[in-house]
Amino acid sequence: TKESVKGFLRRNLFVLLTIAAVALGVMLGSALRPHNLTPREIKYFAFPGELLMRMLQMLVLPLIISSLVTGISSLDSKASGKMGMRAVGYYMVTTLIAVFIGIVIVIFIKPGKGHRDSPVASSGTIEPVQAADAFLDLIRNMFPPNLVEACFKQYKTVYKKTIHTKNVTVALSLTDSLNATEAALTVVEMIPVSGSSNGVNALGLVVFSMCFGLVIGSMKQQGQALRDFFDCLNEAIMRLVAIIIWYAPVGILFLIAAKIVEMKNLAEVGGQLGMYTVSVIVGLLIHGLFVLPLLYFLVTRKNPYTFIAGLLQALITALGTSSSSATLPITFRCLEENNRVDKRVTRFILPVGATINMDGTALYEAVAAIFIAQVNDMELNFGQILTISITATAASIGAAGIPQAGLVTMVIVLTSVGLPTEDITLIIAVDWFLDRLRTTTNVLGDSIGAGIVEHLSHQELQSQDVEVGNSVIEE
Ligand code: ASP
Repeated sequence: TKESVKGFLRRNLFVLLTIAAVALGVMLGSALRPHNLTPREIKYFAFPGELLMRMLQMLVLPLIISSLVTGISSLDSKASGKMGMRAVGYYMVTTLIAVFIGIVIVIFIKPGKGHRDSPVASSGTIEPVQAADAFLDLIRNMFPPNLVEACFKQYKTVYKKTIHTKNVTVALSLTDSLNATEAALTVVEMIPVSGSSNGVNALGLVVFSMCFGLVIGSMKQQGQALRDFFDCLNEAIMRLVAIIIWYAPVGILFLIAAKIVEMKNLAEVGGQLGMYTVSVIVGLLIHGLFVLPLLYFLVTRKNPYTFIAGLLQALITALGTSSSSATLPITFRCLEENNRVDKRVTRFILPVGATINMDGTALYEAVAAIFIAQVNDMELNFGQILTISITATAASIGAAGIPQAGLVTMVIVLTSVGLPTEDITLIIAVDWFLDRLRTTTNVLGDSIGAGIVEHLSHQELQSQDVEVGNSVIEE
């Protein structure tokens, strides 16, 4: 009837608008492609999309901090501890499954076989960053020495080359390479220097906010002012999200259209990297459309695809922005408004998930590393494959939720099994595309995780309700 059609339209307005935006973006982009716009023109054309990215990113910091602090301080420490353990268990299990799927597929499809006619001469330069350094950086980043700095800087170890020739000592930056004769004459020392790369240190902020929330929660009456403050801040930010969401379809339309205008000829890239791209896509599809839904069903006995339908807008935003942290505000809305997931769960689980749980990235890192091994005709033994699984998991935890962060953390995986890091350049051509798909999988993993943790934590949430009810009566 007319009423129910109206109701449907009203309920699904944003989803419909977002889908329409994708379709329009594809059409507009394809129509403009033949006009060979200059890079400057493309930049202008992409402007409305750039604005969306900036607006979403603007909200991420206060959103992560306020939601974690309120989420955790509103639970008693036992409940939040249990919930946290469940979340971490889910993250570990799903990430490892994702890596496993990636490995099986890439070994089966063998996209890198016969890829390079002549093996690259191993260049003999020193491998600057070791996997161990990256592991330590991961832990270092959990404890930012300066909270304000953590809002825009991540810690990263880099090595400085100090070259001693006969009588001079020169320090070179990491990127300077030595030529063979020079190297023969010199003694080279690598000295670690504290470096920082750009980007939010979300991990550090998450750890701080969690501890802060725990402490405020334990302060009972005394902590009330801070609880109210962060609660109010969180509510205000979510209201800003509700405003920005009106602009999202426009932004997504231009993000997608501009990318289509700008991208290289697909057939060209596809020829070289086609099977590699297919391997990643197949892996992501299996993980996102079968494994995660199955897990959701096994735990909750509810229809996973209805749950996923409620997430559509967040998934499309992830596809458009290739950033799980920029998508976070929309993920919150979808889970809370469409899927009615308890706010105490989303506030706690989503910021953590968006920072450390990246199934898509882990899968991609494993596929890419083994692809590069295949290109180099390197047979990997079981131990090396195990190393790849572990480092791919670590690399996905360490990757920030920003575009193409996974490409950077690939270095950990490659160096751990002695693969040439410069071969990352082989896969750069298709990375923008795979990045969008893996980001979508990352967001899906976080959201399904919130659904599963909510289900498992039913008891704690209910007893918390009772407690809150009691204290209201007492007051
Ligand atoms: N872009 C991804 C994300 O935001 C991270 C990656 O590069 O894999 O989730």
